[in-house]
Amino acid sequence: MFKITYFYFLLLLIFCTISIGASRKDLFTDPRERMVTTQIIARGIKDPRVIKAMRKVPRHLFVPEKIRGSAYDDRPLPIGEGQTISQPYIVAFMSEVLDLSSRDRVLEIGTGSGYQAAILAEIVRQVYTIEIRPGLGETARERLKEMGYRNIFVKIGDGYKGWPEKAPFNAVIVTCAPEKIPRPLIDQLTEGGRMIIPVGEERGIQELILLRKEKGMIIKKAVMSVVFVPMIKEEEIMVR
Ligand code: SAH
Repeated sequence: MFKITYFYFLLLLIFCTISIGASRKDLFTDPRERMVTTQIIARGIKDPRVIKAMRKVPRHLFVPEKIRGSAYDDRPLPIGEGQTISQPYIVAFMSEVLDLSSRDRVLEIGTGSGYQAAILAEIVRQVYTIEIRPGLGETARERLKEMGYRNIFVKIGDGYKGWPEKAPFNAVIVTCAPEKIPRPLIDQLTEGGRMIIPVGEERGIQELILLRKEKGMIIKKAVMSVVFVPMIKEEEIMVR
């Protein structure tokens, strides 16, 4: 009798363990894993911290509900107000080339959905991010807070000017394209600091530029041709 009861107890225990394990996986775990293997690792991203972050952050929670099914597709997606969340590979590539360390403080220009900020926050100490469109900035701030990110600080304003009160930054990432590299952003880099920024005209050819500040000198290198939404000025918000 005792043996049979024990057997059923054991069976129940195994069943419970399996269900707890399964509940930790959600509908999006498999597509996310597939995204990491086929779009990120297969294309040469090697930094284990970037790969770990891409595996962890639930990208589907950063896109509008009706397009969640496409969240892990190999492309940018609309996030409202004519703006886009970058393609997963671009997010990973820009994070990797910044050569980040866990002690770094990073400035992002163009919060958008907050996805890139979340990826960075998994890797570095603090992320400061600026969004010029109040609607997008407030939604992202709320979303990141709900997700438990305590090391991301969202400001609504013109990122061209950077965030001088919080400078200097070990790295700057710009996710909208200005026609020229904003001087204030270079000034707000630490010695040895890195910046990744798409530069070029709207609807023209844009180059992703990797910049490094070394002994006061600026070393620049074009690393990829890209298409980003333009960096706008405050007075342009109403007309666009
Ligand atoms: N990094 C975002 C994608 C951003 S799309 C993400 O992970 O979802 C580019 C964003 O830059 C848009 O939201 C746009 O409103 C914003 N932007 C454009 N010009 C800006 C400026 N001058 N300062 C700050 N943000 C700006």
